[in-house]
Amino acid sequence: QDGPKYHGIVEDCCCDYETVDRINEEVLNPLLQQIVKYPFFRYFKVKLWCDCPFWPDDGMCRLRDCSVCECPENEFPETFRKPSGSVLSSDDLVCQEGKPEATVDRTIDAKTFKGWMEVDNPWTNDDETDNAEMTYVNLQLNPERYTGYSGPSARRIWDAVYLENCQKLDPSGECQERRILYKLISGLHSSISVHIAAEYLLDEKTNTWGQNLSLLYDRVLRYPDRVRNLYFTFLFVLRSVTKAADYLEQADYDTGNPVEDLNTQLLMKKLLHDHKLQTACPKPFDEAKMWKGQSGPELMKQTQRQFRNISAVMDCVGCEKCRLWGKLQILGLGTALKILFSENGQDQSGLRLQLQRNEVIALINLLNRLSESVKFVHEMGPSAERMFGKIIGGP
Ligand code: FAD
Repeated sequence: QDGPKYHGIVEDCCCDYETVDRINEEVLNPLLQQIVKYPFFRYFKVKLWCDCPFWPDDGMCRLRDCSVCECPENEFPETFRKPSGSVLSSDDLVCQEGKPEATVDRTIDAKTFKGWMEVDNPWTNDDETDNAEMTYVNLQLNPERYTGYSGPSARRIWDAVYLENCQKLDPSGECQERRILYKLISGLHSSISVHIAAEYLLDEKTNTWGQNLSLLYDRVLRYPDRVRNLYFTFLFVLRSVTKAADYLEQADYDTGNPVEDLNTQLLMKKLLHDHKLQTACPKPFDEAKMWKGQSGPELMKQTQRQFRNISAVMDCVGCEKCRLWGKLQILGLGTALKILFSENGQDQSGLRLQLQRNEVIALINLLNRLSESVKFVHEMGPSAERMFGKIIGGP
């Protein structure tokens, strides 16, 4: 049985599974794959070496692949660099993995954020203004894939993240708002597992990488809820991107590479206004239904606090590359929440919605990661089910 396993409307969303797979394959995935390769989207500003506020560091990384490698200096956009007086010492260029192309560039300063606001996001725990400890990571050189990070350290992070979820508030899980945080986190967790399965180290001796469909089945497919939550999270983030279309269309994508920057802008326009996407799935998620009723505002504040805690826990991820992608994707989710739950372009404090440059980078890279996961599940799911599934049929 190779027919579609998931039918009907994605729970709490406005499009069906078949449509999501189709628009992802025909529009979203091809566009996003191009967009994230352009300079504006491939450099992510991040503080990777923060102390974990909750537990002593007990990173459990087996592979060197855990380490983050950053962009080669000559690849770095000129406008991202400090204008003067910042000659790098050779010490600054020491790579964690000893590869010359993997140098850490610490020459970034606030100029990078030319035209972009440093505005607080009430959903996240970021402290973007502390530039001295920030580095830029070339995301293209640091793919999210198997790293060997596992055991009690990884488990403790996931446990803490799920403890912050809505069920603490409402064990019955009846109302939509109270389920949403859980579904977003679970969807992200599924996506991370899918990326591990899609790029797995099959043979350490020969350094052979490939797909691990048994892992895909064991961690994701055998739990239909995890697949549903992946689709939900994808549509939720997609909705936030389309809702912020006007803002994103006019954003400043300048990195000092006129041709590449223009292409970035054009591709973003295409993504935001694609006719096929707009007709097939005009409103992937209806945020207007949320936080209604008397307890709505208080509920949203509680959810905001919980999400901020989840964001803080990311500093405790004991593997550098997992921490990079964990921080990026949680920032991306926080940005989606900020966009969706600001009224008429105004944030909660009444100010017009403003996004940080890093938030836009995180949002689009998150959408791309989710799009890759949905594609992989759609394409490889049936084979994995056939090979490893005991029960074949609808969820
Ligand atoms: P885990 O994935 O650790 O799951 C723990 C428990 O959570 C499961 O037993 C189950 O009860 C529950 N659970 C699992 N999936 C879901 C879901 N979708 N929805 C709801 N509940 C679920 N490893 C890498 O190799 N590469 C990475 O890039 C990477 N990034 C990570 C980023 C973060 C933020 C974290 C916390 C971990 C990351 N890891 C990464 C580790 C990876 O996620 C797993 O923790 C690890 O592979 C061990 O897997 P596991 O089988 O023990 O189950």
